[in-house]
Amino acid sequence: MKIKFLGAARAVTGSCFVIETDQARFAVDCGMHQGNDKIEKRNWNADIYEAAKIDFFLITHAHIDHSGLLPLMAKNGFRKPIYTTEPTGDLLKILLLDSAHIQETEAGWKIKRLQRWGKSADVAALYTTKDAEVVAPLVKTKKYNEMFSPAPGIKVNFLDAGHILGAAIVEIFIEENGASTKLVFSGDIGRRHQLMVEDPAIVKEADYIFMESTYGDRNHKNEEESLNELAEAINYSYSRNEKIIIPAFAVERTQEMLYSLYLLNEKGKLPKDLPVFLDSPLAIKATEIFRRYHSYMDKETNSIVKSGDDPLDLPQLQFSSSTEQSMRINEMKGSAIVISASGMCNAGRIRHHLRHNLWRPGASVVFVGYQAQGTPGRRIVEGAKNIRIFNDDIAVKANIRTIGGFSAHAGQSQLLDWLKNFTNKKMPVFLVHGEYSAQETLAALIKEKLGFGVTIPEYQEEILLGPGAEIREIKAQVVEEEPRVDLDALIGSLEAKVSELKSRKKNIASLSLSRQMEIQDMLKEADMNIDEAKIDV
Ligand SMILES: [Zn+2]
Ligand SMILES: [Zn+2]
Repeated sequence: MKIKFLGAARAVTGSCFVIETDQARFAVDCGMHQGNDKIEKRNWNADIYEAAKIDFFLITHAHIDHSGLLPLMAKNGFRKPIYTTEPTGDLLKILLLDSAHIQETEAGWKIKRLQRWGKSADVAALYTTKDAEVVAPLVKTKKYNEMFSPAPGIKVNFLDAGHILGAAIVEIFIEENGASTKLVFSGDIGRRHQLMVEDPAIVKEADYIFMESTYGDRNHKNEEESLNELAEAINYSYSRNEKIIIPAFAVERTQEMLYSLYLLNEKGKLPKDLPVFLDSPLAIKATEIFRRYHSYMDKETNSIVKSGDDPLDLPQLQFSSSTEQSMRINEMKGSAIVISASGMCNAGRIRHHLRHNLWRPGASVVFVGYQAQGTPGRRIVEGAKNIRIFNDDIAVKANIRTIGGFSAHAGQSQLLDWLKNFTNKKMPVFLVHGEYSAQETLAALIKEKLGFGVTIPEYQEEILLGPGAEIREIKAQVVEEEPRVDLDALIGSLEAKVSELKSRKKNIASLSLSRQMEIQDMLKEADMNIDEAKIDV
């Protein structure tokens, strides 16, 4: 059999591993490539998946970097089953529709921009709502530990990955030419002692393991402290009669925040008269799905549920689905907690809440998730004095907190602990889903401490696997065009314009005051844009 790495190879996003046996061609995960332009270009390389020739997909969990290209497969003719767990099946349906909506909106913007430049606007969305709707009926759900056979000679079992609700580790048993081989895909491995979900299941047997390595080079800090830090931030703004804004991803982190608030409430650390708003239609839908699947959660959660409580509910919790409800929060006087998306502040309603609160010294903005480079969230965390939101330059005066203990990924030592359980010391380890530098660090530790051989596959690399056989790597000849930015030309053009403007200063001074004010605004805006452009260089 052979395996081809179509994503999450020396990168975190785009998980997709295509396996070909003598009887079937299938894939584990079908994630979207996210990050810089070079990585995102891979989403448009749809042909390499040969979607119409895939017999089935196994999806480890609902995160878009593991599932986001399923509608693209449907667009390219895939109509076979997609196997996953029950909660993932439900979450997929809302997340893929949301993702399709984002794709359509982005294509719309591109068309408008091209039209403004007088160019022809022949831009199609990566995929559409219609494509996402084709995916839903293909989803077939299984429980953890419910072995099934999706094709002749292949058996599959999902185990709890302890990452987000319904996330799975996948065991695949393959019979080929009279020999059996077991592959294990870790999916994303959860952090131990995470709220809501169980610790990752222990696996002991495998012929090959494909393991994530997101935090291969570091451990998480302050795991115990997180709840207290959250309580402190709440108190800070509650006592100043201001709001606490929490940007959070709609799936998992939002529910973890609700759970945390429930726990604070139980301990008497959450003021009873402090309203809590969940202000994100997607997060509201996701929370409703979470509430349906207590059986997929850990023992602690289930004992709370048995006692008649719901850890994802609070007496003062209010859902705001409509835009009007969302706007009312900003008009409302007094303190409140607002949980809203997107988690990195680059889209969605959270931007309105930041615009209304970032400049208020008594307010708090609490970051509880990863902030990617280039996002407004990252700039705030790194201490920006001003942030551009909806063409407004907002001063950052609020109390900014970053709480690091809420990660849903195992840190370095936990990854090693999980891998240590495998008994077959000859088992090759393939590291996927990580930045290359983190993977190298982890690979060295695995070789040194556990003695396994480690391979870090490249994008589009193909590897032959077989029982007891040597790994044979076939390197792909991937020619990826680097996106180019012609800085010299841009800066040259700017300089020329500035000196032209200088030479016309007198002409500007002779214009009407209102026209001069307009010009002042335009130049101020250009000035701010340049400030923003050089912020991290
Ligand atoms: Zn994930
Ligand atoms: Zn992931």
